Amino acid sequence: MKVRRRWILIPVISTCLLIIAIWLPYLTGGAAWSIPLLVVLAVVDCVCFIVSNQKLRCPACGEPLRGILHRYLFQQERGYYCSGCGQYIEIVK
Ligand SMILES: [Zn+2]
Repeated sequence: MKVRRRWILIPVISTCLLIIAIWLPYLTGGAAWSIPLLVVLAVVDCVCFIVSNQKLRCPACGEPLRGILHRYLFQQERGYYCSGCGQYIEIVK
């Protein structure tokens, strides 16, 4: 069983961009384009999260793979055991 790494990285990257965008109105002194950009990034971030949540499911039983993001990013693990069926799921490029 495999799950693609991009479904972990895409929401992380979009959240980083959103965090940067939150500071833009302060950094640019309230530039007119910074607020629409923030709204667009917030919508994109939501979409990324919804899509990746649907993709980060166990291929065998459909259990959401909660904790896979934390394990991959902070514990540098390249695999995960499904909490539903116990199958080993490998994170691939
Ligand atoms: Zn499973």
